Amino acid sequence: PRPLARPEPRPGVLAIETYVPGKSVVPPGVTPHKLSSNENPFGASPAAIAAAKAAMDRLAVYPDGSASALRAAIARKYGLDAKRIVVGNGSDELLEMLAQAYIGPGDEGLFSEHGFLVYRIAILTAGGTPVVAPERDYTTDVDAILARVTERTRIVFLANPNNPTGTYLPFDEIRRLQAALPPRVLLVLDAAYAEYVRRNDYASGLELALTAENVVMTRTFSKVYGLAALRLGWMVAPAHVVDTIERIRPPFNVNAAALAAGVAAIEDEAFVSASVAHNEEWAERLTTAFEALGLGVTPSVGNFLMIHFPTTPGRTAREADAFLTARGLVVRRIESYGLPNALRMSIGTAEANELVVAALRDFLAGGD
Ligand code: PMP
Repeated sequence: PRPLARPEPRPGVLAIETYVPGKSVVPPGVTPHKLSSNENPFGASPAAIAAAKAAMDRLAVYPDGSASALRAAIARKYGLDAKRIVVGNGSDELLEMLAQAYIGPGDEGLFSEHGFLVYRIAILTAGGTPVVAPERDYTTDVDAILARVTERTRIVFLANPNNPTGTYLPFDEIRRLQAALPPRVLLVLDAAYAEYVRRNDYASGLELALTAENVVMTRTFSKVYGLAALRLGWMVAPAHVVDTIERIRPPFNVNAAALAAGVAAIEDEAFVSASVAHNEEWAERLTTAFEALGLGVTPSVGNFLMIHFPTTPGRTAREADAFLTARGLVVRRIESYGLPNALRMSIGTAEANELVVAALRDFLAGGD
C-alpha cells in the first residue's frame, strides 16, 4: 500500500455523520424559546443549582471518581444495590462505553429505524456495523428486531420511550424481546424519558436489568431533572457488565458539579412531579390544538411531540421550521432521523406552547 501522507482515521470513522444538536439561534431582537432538545422548561431544582454552585468552591480537587454519594442516592431512591450502578458524562457516554466494550470490527449493533442517532455513532465508533430494523407506526417492532439478529449481533439499543417519535413499547413487549434474544446479545434499554411516562403498561426496565444477565437500563439527568448542561447519566447493569464498563470508564468521567447536583436533584421529588404534571397537561393540550389545525401528531409519552406536516409547497416541515424560527420558536428538524416532513418540539412553558400554536395557525393560514 501507498505510504500515508498524513495520519488517517481507522476504517469506518469517516462513515460517521457528525451529530448536529438541536439549534438555538434565532434572529436578533427576538426572544428565543428553545424547544429543540427536550430540555426541562423549568430549568433544574433550586437545590440542585445550589449544590452545583457550592461545588465551584472546590475546583482544585478531583471529583470522586467512584461517584459514591450519587450512586448511593440513586440506590436509595430506587431500592437497589449501588454496586449495580455506573454513572456517565451524560447517558451518551454510557451508550458509547457499552458499544466500545461489546462491539468490535465485524460485529453488529441493532436498533430501530427512527431510533436515537447516538446508537449509530456509538456502533460505528466502536468499529461495528449498524443494523436497522423497520418500525410500525413509528414504533419499535420487536419481531422486526428479532428477524435481524445474526451471529454477529452484540447489542440491541432500544430507546423506550423513543426520541424523536415519542412512542413506547409496553413492558410485555420488552420482556418478549429479552426472552427471544440469544443470551449473548446485550439489550440496552435507554430510558432517558422514563420519568415522564404515565402508562400502566410501561416499565423502564430497571428491574429487568437487576435480574437478567443481558439487560442494561440507562437514565439521564438531562431531561426531567433539567441538568443537561452538566452532562450526567446513570445505568443499572448486571454485575459482570458493571465490571466490564469500570475497566474502560475514564477515571474522572463525571465532574464534581454534576455529582453534587445529581444528589440534590434526585432528592427533590416535588420538582420532578411538578414538571411531569405540567408535561402531561400540555402534551394533551398541544396534541389537540395541532390536530385541530389539521396537523398529524404521533401520540407521545415523552416531553416532546412529533408533528407531521403536509407535503404541499408552502406548508412543509422545512418551511414551518423557518416560520417558527423567525418568531423565536426553536424546534427540531428531524430529517436526519429519516423524518423529513415532521418537526419535533419539546413541551415548553405555557407561554412558549401557546406561541407555537398561534404561529402554526398563522403559518397554515399563509400569513405572518
Ligand atoms: N437517549 C435518548 C433517547 C435521548 O433522547 C438522549 C438525549 N437527546 C440521550 C439518550 C442522551 O442524553 P444525555 O447524554 O444528555 O444523558
